[in-house]
Amino acid sequence: MILRTNSIVRVVNLNDHRPGAYNEPEDGINIPYFRIWNVTRPNIFGNPFVLRDAENDAERAHVLMLFAEYWYDEKQRPLRNRALMNFPPGSVLGCVCKPKECHADIIAGYLNWRRQNPGDIWEE
Ligand SMILES: [Zn+2]
Repeated sequence: MILRTNSIVRVVNLNDHRPGAYNEPEDGINIPYFRIWNVTRPNIFGNPFVLRDAENDAERAHVLMLFAEYWYDEKQRPLRNRALMNFPPGSVLGCVCKPKECHADIIAGYLNWRRQNPGDIWEE
């Protein structure tokens, strides 16, 4: 699969990309740490629903569902628009969840969907 990395928003694990990190990034993406947008709390793009146990997949699925409801709520339209401005195509979002699922996947999915469907009236 050809990934046009200059046109989509991706998500990586911040810890894999810290300067001097011992391990090669698990995602195989070689990207400088300073180019990664940290979207963990207390950043406004952090997930306000706290995951107490990162190994608990059911709890993870639950807080991701809560984040999706929050993210797509009508009240969060200004936040979504801010994400569109803050994270241009090719941006890399960083959290500490990868390779597990992460709220940043929801943000990236939104941004990529919006840019691939610019005429979609759902979000005009
Ligand atoms: Zn995360």
